[in-house]
Amino acid sequence: MGRQDDCERRVKKYIIQSVMKLKFFGGAKMVTGANYLLESSGEKIIIDCGLYQCSNYCERHNFDPFGYDPKEIKAVFITHAHIDHTGRLPKLYKDGFRGTIYSTPPTKDFARELLLDSEDILRREAEREKREPLYASEDVDSMMKLWESVDYKESVRVGPFKVTLENSGHILGSASFIIEAEDKTIIFSGDLGNSNPPLIKEWESITAPADYCLIESAYGDRVHEDVDKRKELLEDVIEETIKAGGVLMIPSFTLERIQGLLYQLNELVENGRIPKLPIYVDSPLAIKLTAVYKWHESYFNNEAWRLVSNDKSLFSFPGLKLSFSKEESMNIKKVPPPKIIIAGSGMSQGGRILFHEKEYLPDPQNTILFVGYQSAGSLGRRILDGEKTVRILGEEIPVNARVVHISGYSAHADQKRLLKWLEPMRGTLKKVFVVQSDPDVSERFASLVQDKLAIEAVAPSEGDEVVLE
Ligand SMILES: [Zn+2]
Repeated sequence: MGRQDDCERRVKKYIIQSVMKLKFFGGAKMVTGANYLLESSGEKIIIDCGLYQCSNYCERHNFDPFGYDPKEIKAVFITHAHIDHTGRLPKLYKDGFRGTIYSTPPTKDFARELLLDSEDILRREAEREKREPLYASEDVDSMMKLWESVDYKESVRVGPFKVTLENSGHILGSASFIIEAEDKTIIFSGDLGNSNPPLIKEWESITAPADYCLIESAYGDRVHEDVDKRKELLEDVIEETIKAGGVLMIPSFTLERIQGLLYQLNELVENGRIPKLPIYVDSPLAIKLTAVYKWHESYFNNEAWRLVSNDKSLFSFPGLKLSFSKEESMNIKKVPPPKIIIAGSGMSQGGRILFHEKEYLPDPQNTILFVGYQSAGSLGRRILDGEKTVRILGEEIPVNARVVHISGYSAHADQKRLLKWLEPMRGTLKKVFVVQSDPDVSERFASLVQDKLAIEAVAPSEGDEVVLE
């Protein structure tokens, strides 16, 4: 080979290597399993490493080998602690990843608790199905040693990549990423928050001149109607339950939703807007996660921050009872109504809420209040849709209790807010990738972005690879 050929070959190799590639390994045309790979100059980083949470068939894919070699990954950037963004991290470690994991400090602390809790559930599931669990608690411990904290507005450099964190306003510590490499800027939204969240700061618009953007779209087809009146609606439901002498059950997600509810219940009790009554948080995980909130009060919004700086505790007020042990949980039924019981899981697919639903759903003076998303087929969805009898813990249970839904507690941005978040970037964006929603929602939201903002938008599929030019 001549000298010129050799030079040409090296230039070509450099050009090929310096092309930035984006690959979708989860979260593409699905809500869960977020997992994206960026490659530039031969270096690879991952954004999120979530668990698939859906039907049995889909969840089996959690056991599949990753679509890349975990040993080749330099770093993983985690947008937030929800398990559909972190749940396969211990498996990534188990399969050979030894790079660095980066996130905000609250995300790191929440993730540890949530991953250990999931380990317990996954292990019991594996025993039932007679197969190897996805990972062991030792994998979580070893993986946590690779985890470093970065704050909002700070940047990390990994090879050719510069990653800056911005608040995404979804849960405490949740972040969007601005990633720069090869003279291009790509934004990863993570999950984007609702307006005026009860406890945390709202997201700030990203105004960086971005070339590409991945945007979540879980609620890309919906509008939250009662955001401004959610506290008043909660107050009404409580008053009506007290009047009826009943029990108010609130199935709730353990991270952010329970703490947001407690924050508002604290306000209602402290300001005398509802009479004192027993309010149970019946979830050991929620109690542990609430403790993490207390370590990271600087992430609270101004209103919550003002209260904590005046020595007001947001998560303890007259009537609040935390039930950690099984025995404490069982004793709740001995307490006469009226009372409020908040417990996981958020869609009644497991957890202690089932025992309360079995006990109290048959009685018409009781109320079940839904404050979160109920996926198709879940027990929560069936109750919400008005089924008259449901099967709980092996028994047919009549649903005579009142069923109420407040949609304004969602931690996700709705269609209007998603468009609002994209708006400041429309001048420079070459393409938007719509992710983290059901396939039809992704497609429809991508068309909406094209129609309303005149930016090219696509809904990628799992396994797709794009060159970012
Ligand atoms: Zn989330």
